[in-house]
Amino acid sequence: MNYRPYNFWDRSNNDKEEDKQDNGEQSVILYVEDNPGNRILIQRILNAEGYSVIFAENAYQALTIAETETFNLILMDINLPDIDGYTLTARLRNYPRLQNVPIIALTANVMKGDRERSLEAGCDGYIQKPVDVDALPQQIEYYLQR
Ligand code: MN
Repeated sequence: MNYRPYNFWDRSNNDKEEDKQDNGEQSVILYVEDNPGNRILIQRILNAEGYSVIFAENAYQALTIAETETFNLILMDINLPDIDGYTLTARLRNYPRLQNVPIIALTANVMKGDRERSLEAGCDGYIQKPVDVDALPQQIEYYLQR
C-alpha cells in the first residue's frame, strides 16, 4: 500500500472517493456508541466520505452484529451502558473472523493509561472525543490501509 499524505487544504480534489468507486468497494464501519447525538454526527461525516455505517447501541448488540454482519473497521466507544468498550474489544478479538479487523477506541477518557488500556484490550488505535471532524476521515483511512 502506497503512503499518500492527505491534503488538508484542497478537499475539492477528493481522490480517495475516486479510488473507492474505481474498485467498486464501499468500506463498512461498525460504530458502537450509546449516545444518539454522536451517532448522527459520526454517520454524517463517514457517509460524506463514502463509508457505510452500521450501529450498535450497546455491547450486547455489538456482539450480535459481529456474528452476522460483515464490516471493515470498528469504532468503539468506551463508556457503554452494559459492559465497557475495553471488555467488549477483548471479547470481539476472540472471534476468528474479526482478528484482522481494526478496532479503534473512541473515548472522552483522557486519564493517563487509557491509551495503554485500549491497546492491551486489543484495539489498534485510539481517537479522542470530542472528535475532530476534519481529521476523522484521514484517521479512518489510515487504519483501513494498515
Ligand atoms: Mn458512551
